[in-house]
Amino acid sequence: MSVLQKMKNAVRSRSIHVSYVDTGSCNGCDIEVLACLSPRYDLEQYGIYVHNNPREADVLLVIGCCTPQWEDKLRSIWEKIPEPKVAIAIGNCPVSGCVFNRDGGYVNPPAEKHIPIAATVPGCPPRPTEIIRAILSLAPQVFEDYEEKKE
Ligand code: SF4
Repeated sequence: MSVLQKMKNAVRSRSIHVSYVDTGSCNGCDIEVLACLSPRYDLEQYGIYVHNNPREADVLLVIGCCTPQWEDKLRSIWEKIPEPKVAIAIGNCPVSGCVFNRDGGYVNPPAEKHIPIAATVPGCPPRPTEIIRAILSLAPQVFEDYEEKKE
């Protein structure tokens, strides 16, 4: 790997772009993700930036219990994210369906059935610190040899 590529890898690893998708939640996990942006947790101090365009994302946060209406959309969003990329399941919903997974419930968890999930952050809902920790723990996986993996 050239020196230039190594420098690009180092710089890029301090700029992690995150998108999130809610596949049917109670809104509890969404609020915890939004709390990550608040001055108390200040996500951007770690070089993590949240925005809505999956084409610019490195990490996809998946929230909610995967209702059937969201299956195709979830796959479509995942396919729009360029390599290298990872998805993280936030909360119990994308893992088990949580409180929505009961007789007569219209849900189809886990999210892993629909797209590859690299990590899960359990909880109902999980704390913002746990969400931030999961993103940071997967960053080396995304950014190791980033420039080469992109090609
Ligand atoms: S895991 Fe709990 S808090 Fe999060 S969306 Fe599901 S029910 Fe709501």
